[in-house]
Amino acid sequence: MIYPWQTALWATLQRAREGDHLPHALLFQGEDGCGNEAFVEDLAQSLLCLNPTASGHACQQCRSCHVLASQAHPDFMPVMLHEDRQAILVEQIRELNHFLGLSRSYSPRRVVIISPAERMNINAANSLLKSLEEPAADTHILLLSAHPGSLLPTIRSRCQQMRLPVPDSDAALQWLQQQTLQHSPETLLLAARGKPLTAFDLDSSETLGHYGEWLRHISECAQGQGSITAKSAQWEKFDKTLLLDWQLDAVNSLLKQALIANSAGLPGELQALSGAINKQRLWEIHTKLLAMKALAAHPLNPRLLIEDMLMLWQARY
Ligand SMILES: [Zn+2]
Repeated sequence: MIYPWQTALWATLQRAREGDHLPHALLFQGEDGCGNEAFVEDLAQSLLCLNPTASGHACQQCRSCHVLASQAHPDFMPVMLHEDRQAILVEQIRELNHFLGLSRSYSPRRVVIISPAERMNINAANSLLKSLEEPAADTHILLLSAHPGSLLPTIRSRCQQMRLPVPDSDAALQWLQQQTLQHSPETLLLAARGKPLTAFDLDSSETLGHYGEWLRHISECAQGQGSITAKSAQWEKFDKTLLLDWQLDAVNSLLKQALIANSAGLPGELQALSGAINKQRLWEIHTKLLAMKALAAHPLNPRLLIEDMLMLWQARY
């Protein structure tokens, strides 16, 4: 699946493939929730396909495409995290190095995906270096990472680095509007912090309910309704960083609407807030939320941090 925001990069890579100058080691970096895994998997399938379409997509009909679909392709090797592991281990990379020494079966190229690449432990990463330095013929090693800064610099420098695009809000919204969803695309996108695939997954997850509930609580505080103590008990065990990010995004949306003096485009969850808080207060809240983020991962007193968040929104009269 190539998403609309990825088509330009796809075309660039396909031109390189046609010109036979696609680098043998590619490091794809991009944020989670934007369809990056799908992009790299499609690229692998396209490189293995015996008869790709004019735009470079795999034909889905040749022997290679069929065997890849049944997860038994002799020229393809995915290196992923094993289910119960936190790291990609050196044994996995040794197996990969052995694979790269074999002769090809029937695809025009051999393809490897390593994802998430930053999870290779130090021994695994060192073991990969040699294969990156002395590439096997007709081989492409595709590394995918949302945190490329955590990779060994020697790995990064041996790869051609490619940035996978994050769609702008219009492109993300347009794509979401074309999907079959239970909830409003605008709300989903806000709760997913602008990441369309995360938004799509949220549509069928419990997290969206939490998002709506949290916005309702801050909106009640802004209107002087209900008790902060009762509300904060409910959020004590919840991810504080996510709560802060949701508030920061809400403030950003409200400020944007205040600038154009029109709340019509705001999702329902934010409509009540837009009338209750003026622009100056929004900036104050914004500054204080940013300060709280420094404490959010390991708060000394989780309940107190939640109470502080809710008090920020409280009516001041
Ligand atoms: Zn094919």
